[in-house]
Amino acid sequence: MEQQHDGDDHGDDNDNGTTEHSELAPVIPAENAFAALGLRPELLQALDDLGYEEPTPIQRETIPYLMDGKDLLGQAATGTGKTAAFALPALQLIDGRAATKAIAMVLVPTRELAMQVSEAFFRYGKTLGAKVVPVYGGQPIFRQLQALDRGVHIVVGTPGRIIDHIGRGSLPLDAIKMVVLDEADEMLDMGFADDIESILEAIPHAHQTVLFSATMPPRINSIAKRYQTDPVKINVVRGDTKASNGKVRQCAYVVQRNHKPAALGRILDIESPGGALVFCRTRTEVDQLTETMNARGYRAEALHGGMDQAQRDRVMSRLRDGTAELLVATDVAARGLDVDTLTHVVNYDVPSAPESYVHRIGRVGRAGREGVAITLAEPREQRQLANIERLIKQKIAIEKVPSVADLRAAQLDQTVAAVRESLAADDLDDFWPVLNALAGESPQRIALAAIRLFHEMAGNIVDELDIPDISHRMERRPDSGGATRPGGKPIRGDRGAGGEKGGPTGFIHIALGRAAGIRPGDLVGAIANETDLVGREIGPIKITEKFAIVGVPDRSVDRVIDALKRTTIKGKKPAVRRYTD
Ligand code: AMP
Repeated sequence: MEQQHDGDDHGDDNDNGTTEHSELAPVIPAENAFAALGLRPELLQALDDLGYEEPTPIQRETIPYLMDGKDLLGQAATGTGKTAAFALPALQLIDGRAATKAIAMVLVPTRELAMQVSEAFFRYGKTLGAKVVPVYGGQPIFRQLQALDRGVHIVVGTPGRIIDHIGRGSLPLDAIKMVVLDEADEMLDMGFADDIESILEAIPHAHQTVLFSATMPPRINSIAKRYQTDPVKINVVRGDTKASNGKVRQCAYVVQRNHKPAALGRILDIESPGGALVFCRTRTEVDQLTETMNARGYRAEALHGGMDQAQRDRVMSRLRDGTAELLVATDVAARGLDVDTLTHVVNYDVPSAPESYVHRIGRVGRAGREGVAITLAEPREQRQLANIERLIKQKIAIEKVPSVADLRAAQLDQTVAAVRESLAADDLDDFWPVLNALAGESPQRIALAAIRLFHEMAGNIVDELDIPDISHRMERRPDSGGATRPGGKPIRGDRGAGGEKGGPTGFIHIALGRAAGIRPGDLVGAIANETDLVGREIGPIKITEKFAIVGVPDRSVDRVIDALKRTTIKGKKPAVRRYTD
């Protein structure tokens, strides 16, 4: 039996992303939303502490089947909440037993993801006392041996290093009940197919096999056919909700997490919204961002599921009467919200479900008004953004975070508008005494001084912080096409529909080869870990006895060489140089 599920509709809205409610819908307490999935109390507690208010679609679709012991084949990208979708059922298996042998194993393509996923397990499993050990190449093996020896519930690792441990006998497999392949397509791209198959072959007894992949190339399906039994199939990428709102201008900015508060401030300064609703993923993030934006001089209010109705009503009336200019909220809390003064919706992160993007932007552009939807994305969230574009059948333009000069120019424009407005006022004559007292000064200089006084008092202080432009790191995949600015000019770094890699390939010579035990995965892993390139941008790879040649986008060759010079491959520091035929 195969079951096929699409990410279902979300929230209480109707098809076109609008809602008929004029009041806030009652908030479902967080415990209920996750408890309904059957998770144990320790996990519910951890989720509540993290401020997760409700499961994301993939969690809602997946968790019940995984807790039922089913195999699962899931198509979902990063940012959908898929880590918790497999981590919670895996943690549920712990069942009070002391950590001895691993009961769940997660295979991931890179060291970075191994750390991220094990941190997620640690956060969710804290109250349970879960022992999670990440194992990946590049870290001294003896530290991992010690950690495994002290006892483990969950092991998260890159395939090569997992095989190493299996071979050494440091990772017994007889207690394994669940194996997860996370980002399976990336693992295949990185040349890990054989390693994955040997690991799966090494666990002959009955266990659950869970496979997540952003794309489903034939090789993934054949692994699924071979190693899974009647897998439930889940796809949270698909859906046919259409953002019907043509009047909403939609754009995204690519920013690193630590620059997001400054970037948000600068974007809001330029946009000068009538009212803005900023969405965060968790209650904790809502509180933190509200505090940060207040400290930066914005009048921000928090709205989340942890607040009672009276508090929520107070916040809403402050937004309606303009006392508050920013409302920072979770999806649950903002459900059904309908405020005339809202002009801007901001996704502080790319929303975990494409459908929730549609619901969120339905908060502006209502009743024919114009609205703006802004998304702050990290480079790793590009797939998620592409999923949204596919769902809304529209491109989201990637824009550059305004520079200090842009901000100054916008502020001066606002001052010009304010002075013009003042020129039209009929009580200017009241100020003749001031002008008379200044007789003898040049009228132009008096005007400049008065303008400066107003400009500064209007709070036009520029935060000089440099926010790096990393929009070129949001490299569009072919299915999303190349974004353009409203004026039609292609954006730097866009690859358009020219294939995964686009542009010419340059080659790097690395003085390490088969004799040193180098495999393609070692090279791809080292490059992907040390640079911003992703697996599919790396290759072709040729490995001889003594050296290896690796192809990367030509424009990245120097950067990759610099990065490789700073790192080790299989514990060695090989000579690295550009290779020309
Ligand atoms: P992932 O797709 O697993 O990389 O998760 C993306 C982000 O969403 C991570 O920062 C998670 O902490 C966060 N997240 C996952 N599930 C939820 C949830 N139910 N509510 C709020 N945030 C979540």
